[in-house]
Amino acid sequence: MCNELRGALAEIVGDAHVSDALVDRICYTRDCGPDRAGIPGAVVRPGTTDEVAEVLRLANRMHVPVFVRGRATAFLGTGVQTDSIVMETTRLDRVEEVDTRANWVKVGAGAIWHSVDADMHCLGRELAVPGGGGLFSCTVGGSVALNAIPHGMTEYGMTGDHVLSLDVVLPNGDVIRTGSAANPGAEPVERYANGPDLTGLFMGSYGILGVITSVVYRLRRIPEAEAFAMYAFDDYCEAVDAACGVQTQEAATFLVGLFGGPRPTGMEGDAFLHVIARGDSSSTAQRLAKAKAVCESSGGRPVSPECTRNYWQEHMYSWLRNTAPGPYYSDRPYFCPEVAGFVSTQGLKRAVRLFREFVREQEEEFERFGIRIKGVDTYFSRNGAFLWIDTLYDERRDDAWEFGLELRARIAGLMFSEGMSPGGIGAGVSPLIMPRLGAYTGLVRTLKTALDPMNILNPGILVEQGGAS
Ligand SMILES: Cc1cc2nc3c(=O)[nH]c(=O)nc-3n(C[C@H](O)[C@H](O)[C@H](O)COP(=O)(O)OP(=O)(O)OC[C@H]3O[C@@H](n4cnc5c(N)ncnc54)[C@H](O)[C@@H]3O)c2cc1C
Repeated sequence: MCNELRGALAEIVGDAHVSDALVDRICYTRDCGPDRAGIPGAVVRPGTTDEVAEVLRLANRMHVPVFVRGRATAFLGTGVQTDSIVMETTRLDRVEEVDTRANWVKVGAGAIWHSVDADMHCLGRELAVPGGGGLFSCTVGGSVALNAIPHGMTEYGMTGDHVLSLDVVLPNGDVIRTGSAANPGAEPVERYANGPDLTGLFMGSYGILGVITSVVYRLRRIPEAEAFAMYAFDDYCEAVDAACGVQTQEAATFLVGLFGGPRPTGMEGDAFLHVIARGDSSSTAQRLAKAKAVCESSGGRPVSPECTRNYWQEHMYSWLRNTAPGPYYSDRPYFCPEVAGFVSTQGLKRAVRLFREFVREQEEEFERFGIRIKGVDTYFSRNGAFLWIDTLYDERRDDAWEFGLELRARIAGLMFSEGMSPGGIGAGVSPLIMPRLGAYTGLVRTLKTALDPMNILNPGILVEQGGAS
């Protein structure tokens, strides 16, 4: 079976771009998260949309499931099944077209977010959102497929808000183009054209409905100025009130809240708000002044620029750059079974309180299994909040790993019941959440069955379904 599969895949993509070596297959099993998965039978790296389509047609003929992978920087579980095919998109990495007058770029789905952004900087432009925290390694297609939560979302919105058109290979190998560009004679100027928003269908669908092979993404001029401030609060409820005020006054491009976990070096307080404003120099200064007034009126104290820099270095970048252990990650290897979701800004008060109570109740177990909280952080959107809770443990301890997954399930269940809707869901968390969404999940299943009757593409990632896999 393996030889036959390998040979057929090599005919499509060339021998150099398919592997059935055990070491490769093991490396392509998991993403960055804690969920273990099966070892695929082959790994294939198509270089064109046509090759993607041919691989999917072959998979249908051979009844072999295909799991799509960008750079596997998600924490959600790959769901890879034993003897399946993993299809990696990283050879689809070309910037295909740029229009700096209409401000869009068309790029292969496997391109790395940051490298596209860096290319656009040479033209005085940037991608319309800065990308999520994984931007130095994640792909554009992966970020769109799971509608990543980007930096800058307070002003700029979500990753998906700036997608103008997608090229998608459907599970049966058919290729479609979405938005105004579905008309072969038209430019990709608008997503909402030619009937229903089929672009939206594929965003946040985790690759279950099709493989995105290229993305048209909005650009913006690089703003003239960027300014930072940070405020410490003695009570997290004051920080939530201040965040609400900053949102109402549109005073931040990016507003981040720290509501738990280790305190950034040099900072004293119960919760912290980090404010970033971008724009021209005068509007940036005005917005920071508004944020300052709002934060101080809710009891916030300004934090020194050095502490602010420490926060970003220790928290966001120590992991990416593999620097020495800091307060957040300490010794490694660790795992990070995160629970994350959207909640109203005021609803954050209750969510943080419940989580803190939950942790207090589990103190003994946390001690026994060496569980640590990395962070209870929030990216604020225009009118709400995206809360994520990360717990760390050492996966070399099987008991800690099992407890970590159980903990994730319990926190996800608790948060869902309290009105939080998961942003990232994937293979690990979807079985806990999707069955609770009733007819909504029924519709996702219906769409999946209609587009993928053989259940060949990313089976089981969002919904269970009958099929030939
Ligand atoms: C240090 C760090 C910080 C992070 N910070 C953030 C953050 O701030 N916000 C955030 O949202 N995430 C964050 N992440 C998670 C992750 O980086 C992003 O979600 C990222 O967008 C995933 O891209 P990827 O290419 O790695 O996708 P993968 O992990 O490879 O895939 C994710 C999902 O999309 C599907 N998929 C991938 N490519 C395609 C395609 N071309 N067509 C169809 N389906 C596809 C996969 O099957 C899978 O279900 C972070 C990760 C790290 C390591």
